Amino acid sequence: MSCNPAIGGLAKGQMVREIDALGGEMAINTDVTGIQFRLLNKSKGPAVQSPRAQCDKKAYQFRLKHTLELQPNLQVFQATVTGMIYSHGRVVGCRTSLDVDFIGRTVVITTGTFLRGLMHVGQSKNEGGRLGDFSAKTLSASLLEAGIELKRLKTGTPPRILGRSINFAGLQEQKGDIEPTLFAFHDTRDPGDMFHVESTGERRLGWKPGSEQVSCWLTHTTPASERIVRENLHKSAMYSGEIAGVGPRYCPSIEDKFVRFADKARHLLFLEPEGRNTNEYYINGLSTSLPFDVQVDLVHTIPGLEAAVILRPAYAVEYDFAIPTQMYPSLESRKAENLFLAGQINGTSGYEEAAAQGLVAGVNAVLKVRGEPPLVIQRHEAYIGVLIDDLVTKGTTEPYRMFTSRAEHRLLFNHGSSELRLYDHAKKHKLLSDNRLERVAKKANRITHWEIYLETSKSVGGSWAESIRCDKSTAALPAEFSAEPKEVREEVLYRVTYRGYLEREQRQIEKMKDVEKIRIPASLDFLGIPGLRRESAQKLHQLRPQNLGQASRISGVNPTDISILMVLLAARRNAPAR
Ligand SMILES: Cc1cc2nc3c(=O)[nH]c(=O)nc-3n(C[C@H](O)[C@H](O)[C@H](O)COP(=O)(O)OP(=O)(O)OC[C@H]3O[C@@H](n4cnc5c(N)ncnc54)[C@H](O)[C@@H]3O)c2cc1C
Repeated sequence: MSCNPAIGGLAKGQMVREIDALGGEMAINTDVTGIQFRLLNKSKGPAVQSPRAQCDKKAYQFRLKHTLELQPNLQVFQATVTGMIYSHGRVVGCRTSLDVDFIGRTVVITTGTFLRGLMHVGQSKNEGGRLGDFSAKTLSASLLEAGIELKRLKTGTPPRILGRSINFAGLQEQKGDIEPTLFAFHDTRDPGDMFHVESTGERRLGWKPGSEQVSCWLTHTTPASERIVRENLHKSAMYSGEIAGVGPRYCPSIEDKFVRFADKARHLLFLEPEGRNTNEYYINGLSTSLPFDVQVDLVHTIPGLEAAVILRPAYAVEYDFAIPTQMYPSLESRKAENLFLAGQINGTSGYEEAAAQGLVAGVNAVLKVRGEPPLVIQRHEAYIGVLIDDLVTKGTTEPYRMFTSRAEHRLLFNHGSSELRLYDHAKKHKLLSDNRLERVAKKANRITHWEIYLETSKSVGGSWAESIRCDKSTAALPAEFSAEPKEVREEVLYRVTYRGYLEREQRQIEKMKDVEKIRIPASLDFLGIPGLRRESAQKLHQLRPQNLGQASRISGVNPTDISILMVLLAARRNAPAR
């Protein structure tokens, strides 16, 4: 956790559940090291409700490391990778700074912010991907050698302060939910997976999910904060021209907030504890690259932080990323066979986005070795599908983070349905244990049973489903239904309540599926297609979409271009074989 000690949030919370549905570790690790749980958007519809948790940063890190150490058939080794080893245009391994080479049939690179990482605090610069860490300097050159194009991005982090120097009196307290929404699907897991004393007998860090929650605190900037920022803008690394990389639009620095949102009188800040066994607090919303002395003055203008002691300064970090349109949807590089890339190296920002890609790249690296077709999650199946499709077809010019608005079928992406939506992939690639797959299938059957029952059985004046849709009342539902687990009840009620909307989504998906099925031959010469606009032809030539659906999502390719392609591909299919 390089930055915020939190997992989840809008769209990201859904992604964590999707990762869990595909056998990933993020959800369970968050649950057992979480110190505060909140369901966001509680007053809105279930499709946009998202779980979020504050974690104990160190417990999160060490529990996950321990999980890897205990994983059968996985060898863990730490060293700095200095370059890839290529043979005939393929990656066959990597070199380390210890002069120890690793040979592998596939390689996955997940360097985060470390590729030529350069940190800025005011005018002071230090090489490194994170405070106190190294910079991966030679790996970039090795990727360039394979023809992989790199660009610069930047991100930032706020100061960490000492909890006992905060005056909490007068600050608004934000408690966790009394009934916490956890991330992992505990209802379908083996009980042994749930707590920190696991079947191996090893004790891992963590506690009973949702127990002994801690509070966050709300404060805000003041006119004095704004004055200090404005007076010192010229000293900020990002405003003095020191930083070339593009920053995250949706997670702006405090300099950006005062400049770009000048009409806002104040900006909210959240004080978030970094763990149970530390007194360190993270000031969410105060990311900056101002010099340290200015940071001290700035922090002291904030209510509750008048005497706050900074433990670690805020900083910005610039790093190389690989333009993601150079990958196939499997996350394998188009430039170097057997090389997979995942996480921030692909231009994303965020733990959840990184974890989702890591999972898909990892699965596909194995499938490639086995000679099997890759795992490709479609846009209508999950946020993970949207994320990867956006990256490989549209690319990104700024740190990409997931939002609900990026998904055209977000109504289908309520967090509770992740396990059901991704069941077929999990089963096909054996990503969950047989026991768990069986429980997910049973859960799906119960849900379908109740959906049909409520739609077809009579209640007063119509079916149960009609009365739910009419007055949203669930009080009088059959006792057998009330006896079902919460996860089953919630999913059934979601499907019944929003049936009309969900069916409309399904119809749109069916229509789109036809276009997705039209494959574009790898040999097609886009530049030679008569009638295709020059700009579209060049984009298509550069990005080489694999089907017409992907082609239609490339920015700059319009519906007329797609019609031309459709006619051309149909003519080719119908042409007599020679
Ligand atoms: C300063 C900062 C602020 C951030 N702010 C936010 C935020 O507010 N919100 C948000 O959602 N996300 C934020 N992020 C991003 C978030 O931390 C990342 O998106 C996420 O952790 C990326 O995951 P990753 O697995 O791609 O890389 P990382 O989590 O960065 O992990 C990369 C790992 O690779 C290792 N590594 C790198 N190069 C080599 C090499 N050559 N050899 C061996 N090992 C290597 C590193 O040691 C590290 O362990 C921030 C990141 C930073 C650094």
